[in-house]
Amino acid sequence: MQTRRIAISLSFVFVLALAGAPGAQTRWLEAYREPARRIIDESRSSTFAWDRLAELGDTFGNRLSGSENLDAAIKWAAEQMRQDGLEHVRLDPVKVPHWVRGAESLEITAPGRHPVAMLGLGNSIGTPPDGLQADLLIVRNFQELDAAGDRPKGRIVLFNVPFTTYGETVVYRSDGPSRAAAMGAVAALVRSVGPPGLRTPHTGALRYADGQLQIPAAAVSAEDADRLQRMHNRGTRIRLRLRMEAKFLPDADSFNVIGEIRGRELPDEVVVVSGHFDSWDVGTGATDDGAGCVVSWEALRLMKKLGLRPRRTVRVVLFTNEENGLRGGLDYRERYRHQLANHVLMFESDSGVFKPTGFGFSGSDAARKTIQEIASLLHDLGTDTITASGEEADIGPSVQAASIPALSLNVDGNYFRIHHTQADTVDKIDPRDMSTAAAAIGVMAYVVADMPHRLK
Ligand SMILES: [Zn+2]
Repeated sequence: MQTRRIAISLSFVFVLALAGAPGAQTRWLEAYREPARRIIDESRSSTFAWDRLAELGDTFGNRLSGSENLDAAIKWAAEQMRQDGLEHVRLDPVKVPHWVRGAESLEITAPGRHPVAMLGLGNSIGTPPDGLQADLLIVRNFQELDAAGDRPKGRIVLFNVPFTTYGETVVYRSDGPSRAAAMGAVAALVRSVGPPGLRTPHTGALRYADGQLQIPAAAVSAEDADRLQRMHNRGTRIRLRLRMEAKFLPDADSFNVIGEIRGRELPDEVVVVSGHFDSWDVGTGATDDGAGCVVSWEALRLMKKLGLRPRRTVRVVLFTNEENGLRGGLDYRERYRHQLANHVLMFESDSGVFKPTGFGFSGSDAARKTIQEIASLLHDLGTDTITASGEEADIGPSVQAASIPALSLNVDGNYFRIHHTQADTVDKIDPRDMSTAAAAIGVMAYVVADMPHRLK
């Protein structure tokens, strides 16, 4: 097997040599086979990444913006980065929205009394203290709502839209409440944006339209949405009582956590690896996005442990407030605006860490070709497939402001089954997937930061 691979690669080089100049492109990569192997072996020889994620979740729990949990976790992360030997470890201050859920419940009050599995939507207002009670109207899409005449008036409207893709169905969570309010509804419910789980409702942010009356809004589990739909189809008149204490407090102090390995030759040129450290206030934010933070951070820890100091600086950023404000990503763009032209690549992992398959990439064709060449070092990990579009939320503002090449981690797993739910805990994540992802990110970040030519 080994012999055959060498034979193939030799003949490949020979063909390239006959074709002319491109042969040089594979030669520079040869120097990275050995360090790539060391990074992969170091990462895969332990469960360090998973253990760190478990410690984060077990100790600090979920980490909504403005919470004491997030604050304590941020300070812990900075301290751990220092212990890892990272350089220029710092906390960049960011003011963040401070939404609190408070107590909440939803019940069928007629016929009979039955609790419904629900989670208030992030950024929602609350109900009056005694809750609000109203008849239920179910619609299957926005067209049905728009055609409903005055039937939504005074009612609680449920958008019962089965999950297809996140992009297609998340609009009912973000825009549904204001669309229902415009038709006179007193509250809005959405079928959880995720595939059926085990009666797990999914929270997530809503976005009230400007100038529109705000109404309280919550997600119900897929199973409860189905039950309500069956009752509705039988012609049953359903009455519901929704109670929510949700509200905003004044903006709170938070921080982006940053650590670096300074470049040995071109320290002003920066490769960023990142995730977002805040989470929703349910579960422990393990897959969204504790795992993404830890595997990105691992890239630097692995380099430090192995004594690899690349030509350019590698910077890990744990962004705050992705979930309900994106203030961390926006602050980064403003604070480092003067450095953005020297950002060689920005990577973010925010699609969970399940079985890694490779990376998404946005950038020039030439840069894509280089990323593809580097990915060949990851063939044995099964993480060498490069797909279109590498942009994630927090790096988005900087990437767009300075046309920075963007990279994201692709994984094969049930991210949307648990994200934004009480089930987002570390036990859903395989330690092997964590160490594989960390290895792949580590190799990618190291080679891009160290290679003789800048990624363009
Ligand atoms: Zn996320």
